[in-house]
Amino acid sequence: MSQKSIIDRLAILADAAKYDASCASSGTAKKNSLGGKGIGSTEGMGICHAYAPDGRCISLLKLLLTNHCIFDCHYCINRKSSNVERARFTPQEIVDLTLSFYRRNYIEGLFLSSGIIKSSNHTMEQLVETARILREEHDFRGYIHLKTIPEADPELVHQAGLYADRVSINVELPTDSGLVKLAPDKNAQQIEGAMGGMKMAIRQAKDEKKRFRHAPRFAPAGQSTQMIVGADAATDADIVGKASRLYDNFRLRRVYYSAFSPIPDASAVLPLKRPPLIREHRLYQSDWLMRFYGYQPSEVMQATEADGNLPLDIDPKLAWALKFRERFPVDVNRASREDLLRVPGLGVKAVNQIVASRRHRTLRLDDVARLTVSITKVRPFICALDWRPVMLTDRADLRALLAPKREQLELFSA
Ligand code: SF4
Repeated sequence: MSQKSIIDRLAILADAAKYDASCASSGTAKKNSLGGKGIGSTEGMGICHAYAPDGRCISLLKLLLTNHCIFDCHYCINRKSSNVERARFTPQEIVDLTLSFYRRNYIEGLFLSSGIIKSSNHTMEQLVETARILREEHDFRGYIHLKTIPEADPELVHQAGLYADRVSINVELPTDSGLVKLAPDKNAQQIEGAMGGMKMAIRQAKDEKKRFRHAPRFAPAGQSTQMIVGADAATDADIVGKASRLYDNFRLRRVYYSAFSPIPDASAVLPLKRPPLIREHRLYQSDWLMRFYGYQPSEVMQATEADGNLPLDIDPKLAWALKFRERFPVDVNRASREDLLRVPGLGVKAVNQIVASRRHRTLRLDDVARLTVSITKVRPFICALDWRPVMLTDRADLRALLAPKREQLELFSA
């Protein structure tokens, strides 16, 4: 294993990390190395941002410490029974790579996860040690996201928060029964226990920071998690319900959804085909509705179809509006901000602009059209000074009229 070159191991362990979706760096504290202090920055010019073709952020050096694993999660290419080529880095090697990538301006920080080598505690120690060397020995001020191991000693999981901007603990699957079936070495209670511990520590650190200016920082960008979609029988309604409970119970910054990818030599308990990628996209849209548009989880669930899944041909906001047509049209000149946010095709920015402009004048359809990508989608659901959608909202073929062509993905604009 140690015979492989750094480049070869980088190829293996960067590739193995691609299955982890939770790499966004939003929400961290602003730090920089201006004035010659330290190295690295979480903001500012010169940071190389890039996105993979599937839209995931790759501006972090995203690596596994190792893809050896003593666990046997069926959906994972790194599980112990997998025939995949293995590699391993030492903490110092990861540090050297991070610093050299950073100095070349390729990355804005490090996303580090790992298979479980020897034991959960041993692996967690290695992850923490990597972050410690970066922070304490190199005064690295760039972004660090550590994936933690819920089975490890809580004190070790806690230490991750002392060095990382963001920590994440994967719930892996939307239901406990899915976890038992597909990840037999994992335990839902242990996972949620670790999340609960992390929530308390983050809250405590925030309180201390308010009282003592020099109180140590602790995971300032919060915690996140990831759920695999399509590996078990969980429906979108199950997934939305789980995500909502996680947001409420553990104050998560983000729940990431990762469409299950079929892997070589897959276990017979897994589906043969991956779910359509658009399903993952619809779940992100539903997540957006709950976080920014004021939808309750039960309302997002109302947008699902008879099989419990969100429609794939239209976004969840439009699906909800088509089911609850009696709530429309809303008058752009009078409706509350909350009601305007329900209008398909109106994003938060457009709604804010509508609310600001109507203080000065009465809005016409053209005024709204200037604020949206597609007025066609908005028209059936609003009234304006010169517009009322007579019969349009009630048309039986409205869904067909508004459904985008299958190739056209809408990114969170709805
Ligand atoms: S513990 Fe993580 S790396 Fe190991 S098999 Fe499970 S999902 Fe894969």
